[in-house]
Amino acid sequence: MEPMDCDYLIVGAGLAGASTAYYLTQQCLGRNGRQPRIVIVEKEPTPGAHSSGRNAALIRRYVEDPAVAALAERGADVLVRSELAEFHATGSMLVGLGDDDASEHFPTATGRGRWCPGDGVIDVAGLLSTYLQGQVIHYEAEVREWHDAGSMALKVVTSTGTFNTRLLVNAAGPWAGELGSLPMAALNRHLFATPPIETVAPDWPFVWDLECGLYFRPESGGLLLCACDETPAPPGVYEEDPQVAIHLADLLRDRQPGLGEIRIMQSWVGQRTFAPDRRFAIGYDPRDRRIFHVAGLGGHGVTTAPAVGALAAELLLNPESPRAKDNPFDPGRLV
Ligand SMILES: Cc1cc2nc3c(=O)[nH]c(=O)nc-3n(C[C@H](O)[C@H](O)[C@H](O)COP(=O)(O)OP(=O)(O)OC[C@H]3O[C@@H](n4cnc5c(N)ncnc54)[C@H](O)[C@@H]3O)c2cc1C
Repeated sequence: MEPMDCDYLIVGAGLAGASTAYYLTQQCLGRNGRQPRIVIVEKEPTPGAHSSGRNAALIRRYVEDPAVAALAERGADVLVRSELAEFHATGSMLVGLGDDDASEHFPTATGRGRWCPGDGVIDVAGLLSTYLQGQVIHYEAEVREWHDAGSMALKVVTSTGTFNTRLLVNAAGPWAGELGSLPMAALNRHLFATPPIETVAPDWPFVWDLECGLYFRPESGGLLLCACDETPAPPGVYEEDPQVAIHLADLLRDRQPGLGEIRIMQSWVGQRTFAPDRRFAIGYDPRDRRIFHVAGLGGHGVTTAPAVGALAAELLLNPESPRAKDNPFDPGRLV
């Protein structure tokens, strides 16, 4: 098969790759001249098969790192007011951060914290689908290697074909470290779902207890729960650890006894991917300016997706802009 030509080859159809493709397309619309050819390659047969399809769907503005917090604020603002995907404004209670009484916001919760009325839950599959609409996507195409094809181009070999591209965008989620030779770690985290529980109201906020590492929210008449576990694992290895369910039960008994006895119906593991400083990596690779990273979105890739995609697009289109020169997410700090 003849190699296909494109300007931007985006590796990964998760939220990082999809939002980058979407905002790149948006920012190019209305510009004069030839529109760039964007191609997404995804090794799985469907989008969102990894982190973007295994998360808790929370839109949470609070983040400790001020640079990531700015992206979370911007991302949440877009998701709340746009029609990118269905958003439920449930509010959140961040136990341990303030002095609001959790039980004022729903009856069985205990503890004091910060009430965040702008937080909520989003339809992640819907968001991903909006971002990918109209994009050229090659599924079951795993990027295996690339070669120099002159100073302005790379020849990228995938399991199903070859691409000549001006730029390769590394949005490979848990594989971003391997693919882009970056020091990234994938950390496994379990989520648990209960069957319907009579006392759970669907409009309860989500509760995040930052003091002990526990969160939960209503889901399909029951609860979705997490004990905030972090276990390093190779990319794509989702082994369940029975100890995590035991730890979750202990946390619930100690911190939220009002929830009563919880029966787990389903559990799964997802991976959050981090740079050593836990800050995202968005920008050109200093070793090869034909490679651009959108990686290490950790536990905030849903909330920040609109801001991450918009920033990536802006840096891709204006590499010399002031924003590029003062980019707190510059991958240069990692290499
Ligand atoms: C348990 C859990 C709960 C979370 N909860 C929340 C939350 O409530 N709110 C929030 O904001 N964030 C949350 N997150 C974080 C969020 O899910 C991630 O930050 C986000 O999904 C990362 O998106 P991504 O596109 O970088 O990775 P991914 O979604 O994993 O996408 C990367 C894609 O690249 C593909 N790929 C990899 N290598 C190759 C290759 N060589 N060739 C072709 N394709 C390749 C993969 O198949 C994959 O589809 C949570 C994460 C987890 C695990």
